Amino acid sequence: MRKQIAAANWKMNLTYQQGEKLLGDILKADNKLADHQQVIFGVPFPYLMMAGGAVTEENNYDVAAQNCYEKKSGAYTGEVSAEMLQSINVKYCIIGHSERREYFGETNQVLAEKLNRCLENSIIPIFCCGEPLNIREAGTQNHFVAAQLKQSLFHLSAEQVQSVIIAYEPIWAIGTGKTATTAQAQEIHAFLRSVLASQYSEEVADEVSILYGGSVKPNNAKELFGCPDVDGGLVGGASIVAADFITIIQSLK
Ligand code: PEP
Repeated sequence: MRKQIAAANWKMNLTYQQGEKLLGDILKADNKLADHQQVIFGVPFPYLMMAGGAVTEENNYDVAAQNCYEKKSGAYTGEVSAEMLQSINVKYCIIGHSERREYFGETNQVLAEKLNRCLENSIIPIFCCGEPLNIREAGTQNHFVAAQLKQSLFHLSAEQVQSVIIAYEPIWAIGTGKTATTAQAQEIHAFLRSVLASQYSEEVADEVSILYGGSVKPNNAKELFGCPDVDGGLVGGASIVAADFITIIQSLK
């Protein structure tokens, strides 16, 4: 049974002290998760060990890095490798967020390498895909996201792909307050699953959690997560407000 996941993406927000308090406030709510539910905090690199420590005693709460470098190691000043993340017990890593694609020029090919580095180090990638507004307006979003999966993911074995979490994030909905309708979200999530099914199999596609991201808020999370092919959310803005993220966790199926 695939997991239902609330993943927070703090991005480049909060000081260490603010992050520590936010985690404390969220964990104090004592939301007990079912076996098929998972909460992941995507925090800045310098906070990974603190956040990992904060969730150690919690069942199905974990932390994610927001990025890693595509090379194994070497003279890449300022970069962080998947092996480094593994060495401090990080289990998840966000890969290919649209902000990384846009501001740091990350291509589908580079992201394929990042996925490899994660999987070699037993780190579960949260692979982001999603179309910009002009593609949605042209009605070619399915073709666009299918190409993202094909170019970054399809070299993986069935076993590997089953461990990947996909986050569908329409760029026009990220941080804009505009959310995809439940019909739009369900339609493209079902499409993404069908793309996985035709490349791998129905069984494999059925195991992959596909999260929705793009202005998930306390007032729309339940409806979005209620869609049969929406397995939770990757949440930016609302994940750094304790009360909002608590409600979002409580909205998981
Ligand atoms: C994100 O950063 O992945 C995101 C979806 O942000 P927001 O929830 O703020 O739209």
